[in-house]
Parts: sequence; C-alpha cells; structure tokens
Amino acid sequence: MSKLALLGGKPLGSQILQERLSAWPPKNNVTAQKLNEVYFSNQWAFSSTYMKDFEQAFADYHGVKHAIFMVNGTVTLQAALIACGVGPGDEVIVPALTWIATATAVHYIGAIPVFVDVDSETLCLDTNKISQAITEKTKAIIPVHLHGSMVDMDRLVDIGKQHDLKIIEDCAQVHGGLWDGKPIGSIGDISSFSFQLSKLMSSGEGGICLSNDDDLAERMYRVSHIGYTPDAVQGRPLSSPPEGLTCHNFRPTSFNAVILSDQLKGLDALTQKYVGARKYLEARLVESTHIRFQKSGRKATIQPVYKWVMIFDAPEYRDISIDTICAALVAEGLPVVLAVPPVYKHMLFNLEENKYRISHEGCHIAEQLVDRSLVLMHQVLGGDQKELEMIAEIIEKVMNNCDPLRSYQDSLKKEAFV
Ligand SMILES: *Cc1c(COP(=O)(O)O)cnc(C)c1O
Repeated sequence: MSKLALLGGKPLGSQILQERLSAWPPKNNVTAQKLNEVYFSNQWAFSSTYMKDFEQAFADYHGVKHAIFMVNGTVTLQAALIACGVGPGDEVIVPALTWIATATAVHYIGAIPVFVDVDSETLCLDTNKISQAITEKTKAIIPVHLHGSMVDMDRLVDIGKQHDLKIIEDCAQVHGGLWDGKPIGSIGDISSFSFQLSKLMSSGEGGICLSNDDDLAERMYRVSHIGYTPDAVQGRPLSSPPEGLTCHNFRPTSFNAVILSDQLKGLDALTQKYVGARKYLEARLVESTHIRFQKSGRKATIQPVYKWVMIFDAPEYRDISIDTICAALVAEGLPVVLAVPPVYKHMLFNLEENKYRISHEGCHIAEQLVDRSLVLMHQVLGGDQKELEMIAEIIEKVMNNCDPLRSYQDSLKKEAFV
C-alpha cells in the first residue's frame, strides 16, 4: 500500500481538484454580453424589467405566485420575519446546524432564536424535538434544508398548523430540489434563497423570497423597497406602508438578475451532474470504507448537493481525530474542510446568552456530528469520471491506512510532551 502524503508519500490528487474550486461560479459569453447590455441600458436598479423577468422566472420555476428579489439571503429572512409580524421579544425556532445567518436574521429584528437539535441522519431540524421547544412566545419556525437535504416538510407543516406558527423555509442551500414531487421552497408560508458566492446559484451576492400569499408578498416587497408597493415607480410610492411595518432598502441590481436568469436555465443540468457524482462516490465508498453520508430527506424526489458531507463516526475510526483525517486528505490533494460548528458556538455568533436560547433538551446530536464530519465543496464533484475516481481513491487510501494515522497521532502527542 502506498505511503500517505501526510507521512511523506506521494500525493494521489492533482491540482485539478483545487482548480474546480477557483473556477466557480460558472461563466459564459451569453451572460457576459447581457451584462454589457445592462451596463448601457440605464436600468441598473429599482425593479427594472431585468429584475422583474428574473423574479417571474424564479417564481414560475417553483410554481409559486410571488418572488421578491433582494440583496442577500440574510435580509430575505429578516423581511420574511417582519412580514409575518415577528418582532422584539418573540421566539423563532431554528436548527443548531446551519449558517449563522438563519439565527442572526432573527436577532436583527429583535426576536430570540431558539436552537433545536438535528436528526442524526439528515442533519436537518429534528421534527420530533420541535414541540418541546415551543412556548407562548414562539411565532415562527425556520427549517433549513442543510446541504441540499430536506427537513420533513409534511410533519413540519402539521406542527405549524397545530401551533399556529409561520413556516419560513431557509432554502439557501437547496436550489433546484423536489420534496414529494413539489419544488422545495413552495411548501412553507414563505421561502428564502441566497445567491451568495458559494451557493448553487450565485451572482456574488443576492437573495429572494417566494410566497403564494398575496398579503405576505406585498409586505415583503414593501419591507425591502423602502415601503413602496410593487407597482410603484421610483419617486412615486403610490401609498404608504401599513403603520408599524419597518421598511428598509434591501434592493439588488439588474446585474445580479441577468446572471441569475441565465443560471436558472442551467440549474437542472447542474443538479443532475452533482447528484450523479455523489451517487457514484457514496455507492463506492460505502463498500470500501466505514464512512457514512448525510441522508436525503424522507420524501426527497431530487436532492441537490451543496457541500458533500462525510461522517466518520463508525467504531473503526473513533480513535482517529477528525483533524488527523482532515490533514491526511488535504495532504493527498482533496480540499476538505471541518464542518461548521453549531451556530451558538460559531466564532461570529457572539451574542449574549439572553439573546438566544438552546432548547432545554440540548443539541447533543449536532455537537457530536460536527466533531466527526468533513465537508467537500460540491464544485469539486463537477469533473469527469476520472476525477471522481481520483477523489474515491484518495479517500480509500487514507481510510485504509488507519494504523499509520494512529501512529502519526501518537507521535504528535509525544512531541507535545517533550
Ligand atoms: C448562505 C446562507 C444564508 C444567507 O446568506 P447570505 O450570505 O446573507 O446570502 C442563509 N441561510 C443559510 C442556511 C445559508 O447557507
């Protein structure tokens, strides 16, 4: 068996895997030409036809009535919460595992994020643990479809109805998915997407909310467009917003809209490519290693891939630290990273403890999972069969060298003593 690169052997991977990361997002000449057209059009902003066309296309793609385009996927959540009437002192249930924005958006409007644990297989909000976290202050739940997997939407909608809570789906990581045949993002009261640089659709920054509810849609539009109604033109707001509705400028630009309109046309093909890559890798690695993988949502018809997660919690691996496995894979040329910790432990989530609450049951599953998980950005799965084989061989090489990994760890410990 060849020697691990971590221990001075020859790396198995080539530069190409790293280059997949830097090549993102995809670019083409058709979009470049349209951007040029926008540049000379004098229609850079303020609900231009470019933006309205994109909103319509995104709404149609999801079979939803209204889409409201904004500047990022944090303010979309804020606008959604404000539109639902959530405000200071209210509580909003969020999962322990997500990007910090899900919880900070709640904090920014003066409400209190309440963290609930995740399911050990899907890594998404555990619907069995929600009811216990609900109090008379709870106004909404923000389920996050993490890494393309999906929260159990059937059960969540039932819980929402039973307790009269609004459901705001955070779809920042699940562009192009289907739950039980329905586009994900069309099931809750509102859904929110991000188009930040790393996401499956990206214009550098950007975000959008979807809703079938005319009233919520109008309120979100007003919140994000300094109080204007959807049919108003610049300088003539037509009517003033309802009293007490805090309105902002969350508007994006036409440049974002043009990039995203073209990307939407290629979204299904992109999803298929990543889904195929993940299927190949997981089927092979389940046979050749003891790694397990994040499971699909119970009724996921199409589950997109945003960040591919490997979980090393099998007994065979327990005495090898996640840092050691990570270092060994990186040394072979696979650009994996450690998983993001539960939000309340994240470096950037430095709120005072009375500004958030952890469900009394705790978030032990989330904490355990993060200590045993590694993440590979989906872009790395975008190559041909040869590249996928290279990825599989790297992982197999490292996981079939557990004894050298253990000795390496022991040697580090000894060094620490000297
Ligand atoms: C990216 C992301 C957001 C929004 O992030 P922005 O960078 O503000 O667009 C929200 N929730 C989740 C789960 C995300 O991954």
